Amino acid sequence: MFELQPDLGGTWLTSTYPGCQSDAPIHLYSYSFAPNYNFSKKFAPQSEILAYLQATAKTYNIYDKIRFRTRVSNVRWDESHNKWILHWINIDTEEEGIYEADVVFHATGVLRVPNIPKEFDAFKGDKWHSAKWNHSVDLTGKRVGVVDTTILLYQKMAWYSAFHRVVVYFVTWFYRFQQFPFNSELREKLTPKYELASRRIVLSDHFFSTLKMPHTSLHQSPITSINGNTIETSDGTKRELDVLILATGFDSSSNFPDGYWIGRGGIEIKKHWNGCPTVYCGIWVPHAPNFFLIWGPNSSTAHHAMTRVFEIQVMHAIRAISYMMEQNLVSMEIKQEVAEEFTNTIDQRMERSIFTTKMMPNLNFLLLANLSVQTMTIGFVIRAVLGTQGQEESAWQGSNQKRKSNNQFSYH
Ligand SMILES: Cc1cc2nc3c(=O)[nH]c(=O)nc-3n(C[C@H](O)[C@H](O)[C@H](O)COP(=O)(O)OP(=O)(O)OC[C@H]3O[C@@H](n4cnc5c(N)ncnc54)[C@H](O)[C@@H]3O)c2cc1C
Repeated sequence: MFELQPDLGGTWLTSTYPGCQSDAPIHLYSYSFAPNYNFSKKFAPQSEILAYLQATAKTYNIYDKIRFRTRVSNVRWDESHNKWILHWINIDTEEEGIYEADVVFHATGVLRVPNIPKEFDAFKGDKWHSAKWNHSVDLTGKRVGVVDTTILLYQKMAWYSAFHRVVVYFVTWFYRFQQFPFNSELREKLTPKYELASRRIVLSDHFFSTLKMPHTSLHQSPITSINGNTIETSDGTKRELDVLILATGFDSSSNFPDGYWIGRGGIEIKKHWNGCPTVYCGIWVPHAPNFFLIWGPNSSTAHHAMTRVFEIQVMHAIRAISYMMEQNLVSMEIKQEVAEEFTNTIDQRMERSIFTTKMMPNLNFLLLANLSVQTMTIGFVIRAVLGTQGQEESAWQGSNQKRKSNNQFSYH
């Protein structure tokens, strides 16, 4: 295993901003083979999640199999040997090397590389992305702005002024009224303009209380210019800030830089996708034999623990590898048309799902109807991954001829 960081934990190692915690109830955020009953809160703090992941890795003796501080800089399928060639580099010593693998699990995360719009370069005060918190700056008494397009504002960042471009939340009108009885402007700002559940539903006990604090303010007008330490928004407001915190999301496409991933036939897979990833069950990719994505495109959940998805995907991959070993196959690859059909089906179902809707409905029953479509869509992805295990197994167990002509994979 190759790991860029000095320790395990990924998201939970590197995200250390104040109040960092799970944003979905944590009860399900553990592996089935290592259930954790010890989380102290329903939304567990980052430190507890990190401790759980590292302790689990220790229990299963994973640490001594990892090369830390080692970046995989590209992966290439070598047709003549039916192997993946991984080029790695140690980021401390700059030592480089090649590793040959029969099978690759590619689990480089999605919410990892900060997305920092170039416009913010112009800010002259201290600034950083929320995923790379600068603990050396003391924020006491400082004027702090948060540019937020994610859910971070819901967590306990109670001492900030907030430039909040996209608000992602759900509460009842009554609750808003109860919280802000004398502030109709804030109530209006906090009323979603889109349907319930068309964005992730994020629960928080701190969101409203943060915005009610006398030293916080919420600005929803887009930022139009940054000059020195001054931020101007389209409503003409200018604010001078000491520190700017960018909660501006992540760049998931950076997982596959140009030239990084060369599959069968010398095909550069990301280029071949042409902006539209063709992936089967978030795992299999045409032209990438024996290559398993973990948390590949279309396999996120909105309100469940990702650990469950990872486990299902890994189980699926292990079954495929077992099958290859039993049948003495050197490689196995999803067919292009099967991956395309799967992707099209997901796209069609998404069209009917609540995630593509924008307007607030008038009737509550519409909300319920939409919620069930959303549940169906997410369920479909999970079922597809689970379901295909059975299908593939029966296909894999059929005759060699039948497999080659009649199922989803090509074999060698
Ligand atoms: C603030 C925050 C809150 C979240 N809350 C929840 C939640 O409540 N519930 C939930 O289910 N999910 C949550 N998530 C999603 C979370 O990212 C996943 O649950 C999970 O931690 C992802 O694990 P991963 O191993 O796939 O990716 P990561 O944790 O990103 O790990 C990927 C690893 O790959 C390594 N790597 C990447 N590229 C290379 C390379 N080229 N060479 C070597 N190593 C490499 C990285 O160093 C990293 O350690 C949250 C995410 C964030 C940012």
